[in-house]
Amino acid sequence: MAIIDLLYPKHCPVCLRALPPGKTLICPPCEKKVRRVRDPFCMKCGRPIDSELREYCRQCERSEPAFTQNIAWAEYGSFYIRRMLSEVKYHGNRQLLDYPCLDFSEILRPYMACWQPEVLIPVPIHRSRLRERGYNQALEIACRLSTALKIPVDSESLIRSSETAAQKSLGRSGRALNLLSAFSWNSPKTYRSVLLLDDIYTTGATLNACTRVILRAGTKIVYAACLSTGRG
Ligand SMILES: [Zn+2]
Ligand SMILES: [Zn+2]
Repeated sequence: MAIIDLLYPKHCPVCLRALPPGKTLICPPCEKKVRRVRDPFCMKCGRPIDSELREYCRQCERSEPAFTQNIAWAEYGSFYIRRMLSEVKYHGNRQLLDYPCLDFSEILRPYMACWQPEVLIPVPIHRSRLRERGYNQALEIACRLSTALKIPVDSESLIRSSETAAQKSLGRSGRALNLLSAFSWNSPKTYRSVLLLDDIYTTGATLNACTRVILRAGTKIVYAACLSTGRG
């Protein structure tokens, strides 16, 4: 038994209990509680939808997202997923991402053969938030997926230049504009294809804003992957 396992036992992302030392990343009964996104899901934004007959959710039917396709791992509506992400975000339990990211990488692998992203780009957080939290959860996800999928991370090019706190007071188009100006491309690099990563997909506004900034800088195709998502 490695000393490191005794000093820092890993915890199950579902029940949060300490796991026995070794390679296990989730308790077997807890693995069954994870509500992974299953068919039918929207072929654009990746959110689960109710009808097999539809290809896209109503939102994507109305206005097509800027990214080519998003894939999500699990449903945010599940209590365990919400608790796990909030533990990661606000209590520093980054290790809880180990199992979700490993499992997600297996779901993403067949897409990678087709999408062929040159880099993984985490949705950036603002410097002030980085200081208070100590890390960016999207970068944590990117690093784990990078190890599993053997695709490098570019966390330097896309930056969050301003904080978007007053979003609620703005209308829908005002919010989109405000969000768009929050991100910028800080690099001479361009890619053929990139995979943008985030922890939660809600309205897609953040991913859309990041995608527009990346495309405007000269990259050709932007795909996305989010660890959790609401329903479409
Ligand atoms: Zn468990
Ligand atoms: Zn959709």
